[in-house]
Amino acid sequence: MSNHKPQIGIFGGTFNPIHFGHLRLAEEVRQRLSLKKILFIPSSIPPLKKEDVAGADDRLQMVKMAIKGNPCFELSEIELRRKGPSYTVYTLREIEETPGLGKGSVFIMGIDSFLELTLWYRPEEVIRLTDIAVVNRPTHDISEIYSSPYIVKGSEKTEKGIKRFELTSGRTLYVLPVMGLNISASEIRNLIKKGGSIKYLLPESVESYIISKGLYRD
Ligand code: ATP
Repeated sequence: MSNHKPQIGIFGGTFNPIHFGHLRLAEEVRQRLSLKKILFIPSSIPPLKKEDVAGADDRLQMVKMAIKGNPCFELSEIELRRKGPSYTVYTLREIEETPGLGKGSVFIMGIDSFLELTLWYRPEEVIRLTDIAVVNRPTHDISEIYSSPYIVKGSEKTEKGIKRFELTSGRTLYVLPVMGLNISASEIRNLIKKGGSIKYLLPESVESYIISKGLYRD
C-alpha cells in the first residue's frame, strides 16, 4: 500500500449534468481524507457513454456554476483541451507531470464506475498512477467491491472508520461510506424529457441554465 497520504482528489465524470450526488460525495471525500482540494474534470467525449450527452461547453459551465463558492473545489479543463476520447489514463499521466499535483492524488469514483474499471482503457496503468477512493451508491451494495480483480485479497485494514485495501498495483484503495443520495444524471435527463421538475436535485443555478438553454429536451 502507498505510504504517502493523498493531497488532491481527482473527480472525473461526464457531469451530464452535475448534481447534488456528485457535490456531496466530493465534499465528504475531501473531508474524510483531509484533502486540500478536489479537481472536477469533465470529460470531452466519454468513451463509455455516447447518447444524450450535452455539449462540452455546457457541461463545463454547469460544473463551474455548481462548485462556485467552495474554495476547495476547482475545475480542470484538462480533458476538454485534449483531442480525442477522454481516457483517464492520459489525464492521470498529465496530472502526474504537473508540478504541485503529481504523486499525491486520489481518483474518486462511485462503486458503479469502479466495478466497470475492467472495461476502461489500460486499467492496470490507471491503478498504477493513482490511489483510488470508492464511494457507495444507493443502487449498489458496497460489498460488491470484493469482486474486483484489482484488490489484493486479505489486504483489508480499517483506520478511523475508513477501509483501506491494497490494489494489485501496490497503490491504495479507500472505501468511504458517504451519505447515499439516490440521484443520477440519467434520471435527471429522463425527468426533463417527461416535463417533470428537477428542483432540489441540483443547484438552482444549474437548473436555470438547463432550462434557459433547453438542454436534454427531445
Ligand atoms: P449517469 O446517470 O448519466 O450514468 P452519473 O449520475 O452516474 O451519470 P457521472 O458523471 O457519470 O454521473 O458520474 C461521475 C462519477 O460520480 C462516477 O464515478 C459515478 O459513479 C459517481 N456518482 C454519480 N452520482 C453519484 C451518486 N449519487 N452517489 C455516488 N456516486 C455517484
